[in-house]
Amino acid sequence: MFPDQRLFIDGAFSPSVAEDPAFFTSTNPATNTPLARIYEASPRDLQYALDAATKAFESWSKTTPIERSRILNKAVSILRGRNHEIARVESLDTGKPFSETSTVDVPTGADVLEYFAGVCLSGLEGKMVRLREKAWVYTTKEPLGVCVGIGAWNYPIQIALWKCAPALAAGNTFIFKPSEVTPLTANILAEVFTAAGLPSGVFNVVHGSGRVGAWLSSCSGVAKISFTGQVETGKKVYASAAGSSLKNVTLELGGKSPFIVLPGADLGLAADAAMVANFYSCGQVCTNGTRVFVHSSIKSKFEDLLLERARDGIRAGDPLDPNVNFGPLVSEGHAGKVKGYIRHGEEVDKARLLCGGSKQAVSLPDGKGLEGGFFVAPTIFTDCDDSMLICREEIFGPVLCILTYETEEEVVRRANDTELGLAAGVFTKDIDAAHRVIGKMNAGICWINTWGESPAEMPAGGWGLSGVGFENGSEALSQFVRTRCVLVENGGFPAVFSKS
Ligand code: NAD
Repeated sequence: MFPDQRLFIDGAFSPSVAEDPAFFTSTNPATNTPLARIYEASPRDLQYALDAATKAFESWSKTTPIERSRILNKAVSILRGRNHEIARVESLDTGKPFSETSTVDVPTGADVLEYFAGVCLSGLEGKMVRLREKAWVYTTKEPLGVCVGIGAWNYPIQIALWKCAPALAAGNTFIFKPSEVTPLTANILAEVFTAAGLPSGVFNVVHGSGRVGAWLSSCSGVAKISFTGQVETGKKVYASAAGSSLKNVTLELGGKSPFIVLPGADLGLAADAAMVANFYSCGQVCTNGTRVFVHSSIKSKFEDLLLERARDGIRAGDPLDPNVNFGPLVSEGHAGKVKGYIRHGEEVDKARLLCGGSKQAVSLPDGKGLEGGFFVAPTIFTDCDDSMLICREEIFGPVLCILTYETEEEVVRRANDTELGLAAGVFTKDIDAAHRVIGKMNAGICWINTWGESPAEMPAGGWGLSGVGFENGSEALSQFVRTRCVLVENGGFPAVFSKS
């Protein structure tokens, strides 16, 4: 067990100030044993965090980009130095393999912080326009104020960094509420920023359930909400952010993304990518390519390639074992939900099961101590059609659905037949076809002959019900600033209302 986890407010870890503090528990999903008790923030704690962030904004917003960049870069070095320690905690809390958290979650989170520490040096420049001989317009980019990040549980530290990096770089202060399911690494991030010299109150962590998120979304002292989570929660956040004070909002929501294999694609490469697009992080990735559209002429070969990889390439087990690449799902409740979808696929949709399924136990070669873990077998359904529930709703687990098509026009239409528009990908050796198909996708994040990488340089955001705004890329700084425009007139003012 970790010690009781506190809130991080105004530069210090503190218990809740509530008279009768409430706690919740974080559980290790690989063993179903408790990891830590966490203080749930009370309304008074939240007000303290808001007051601290509001006060800190007065001085942090006046620092120069170079001053901010220096501190953020120091935090990057500390993050990288503590990579294995942080990745271990992340794996314990989420069940994601250490082979992922230590190579992707922490290092690419650090990349994003480094990126915005650099981007703010030139990205906050305004423009100057000469209007007339003695008149100019100039603009300045001003920080917004107190920004709030509300995180999902699938990429806890990475989500925290994606949200706070551009916010802090632009001169805002920040309150982060991690998911109550995976709260642990947010506190380590607070330690990292403190060690890097970030002034008190600039970065705060408040813990708790959706009630805490709802308080922050509806609070008029907050200038911006950056939210990652389910579509239905995102709608609530959007409504309360508008109802209270018309806050600036970024929403990163769910997906049901099409993965299209055209005839003549490199099938080995496409099969490798389809495995990553469905089984990486045990399928708990928002951009998963869960609807795998395969041309009918290559379906049988493609199924064989997937089966071979599912049989020989998945190494389930203790997430802390560096050789393991497939862990448990994040919680008992979520595992139950995913198994429910699999049963629905088997019994109601009547899709054909290629591997896995609701009755299949996960092979855990060295499974001592993992008997209570929330493991769900990697599952591949084939002969699916678009109307099946497993092809329409986000499952957020290790479930891959194969659909076949005959023509390019048909696959484009069916791929777009969803209100979600997060990601899409196409696999082909014909580069004209690749751009033609991807250019017709209703999706914000697209890949050609690859899947899943989302580097700091790539602006990532969903269309339709998948979200509002985007994260990363140099333009993401614009989501954390407002523009002031000033017209300067040195040539006198026309006397429209003078006595004639
Ligand atoms: P969730 O919506 O249940 O919870 C997300 C966060 O919102 C949590 O911190 C929760 O405490 C908080 N919350 C709950 N109710 C709230 C309310 N009324 N007001 C404010 N905050 C509230 O989502 P989840 O189950 O944690 O995450 C999984 C979802 O996240 C999936 O749908 C996945 O697709 C999505 N996701 C999207 C992206 C992306 O970039 N588009 C990335 C990761 C995850």
